[in-house]
Amino acid sequence: MSSIKDLLKSFMLTELFKGMALTGRHFLSRNITVQFPEEKTPLSPRFRGLHALRRYENGEERCIACKLCEAVCPAMAITIESDVRADGSRRTTRYDIDLTKCIFCGFCEESCPVDSIVETDIFEYHGEKRGDLYFTKEMLLAVGDRYEPQIAASKEADAKYR
Ligand code: SF4
Ligand code: SF4
Repeated sequence: MSSIKDLLKSFMLTELFKGMALTGRHFLSRNITVQFPEEKTPLSPRFRGLHALRRYENGEERCIACKLCEAVCPAMAITIESDVRADGSRRTTRYDIDLTKCIFCGFCEESCPVDSIVETDIFEYHGEKRGDLYFTKEMLLAVGDRYEPQIAASKEADAKYR
């Protein structure tokens, strides 16, 4: 019985008309397509994009090489080496993030006691080969230096929820 029904349906083009009716219903409704990159949707201050290492206002690196971020990273994407400076302070001599391994979980940012490693709201970046997404300390500091006002504003907007 059901096969006869199906046969009749296919002869009467029922599915086709159903589909056309649906298209017709949406034909005159408001267009919700975003014309990226000219148009962008709003981002949460908690959006987890490209990583950055931050400095204090006096230019000193925030990172104290505690390695909490390296320990907590589930993707083992962070590699840190450190040394003690002549003034007795400890700083990283190497801080690399392999963004091809990173799953953008945000654990590194959450674990950092000095708000050094952060995830910015930058998502428009790419690599053409694997090595392009291997970010060294210098690259991460450069991102932090360039986008510090943006990073500080996102941190402030999110502070009351922390
Ligand atoms: S966001 Fe998560 S996966 Fe990526 S580096 Fe940080 S802790 Fe590791
Ligand atoms: S970025 Fe933060 S958590 Fe990671 S080593 Fe530096 S101070 Fe520690």
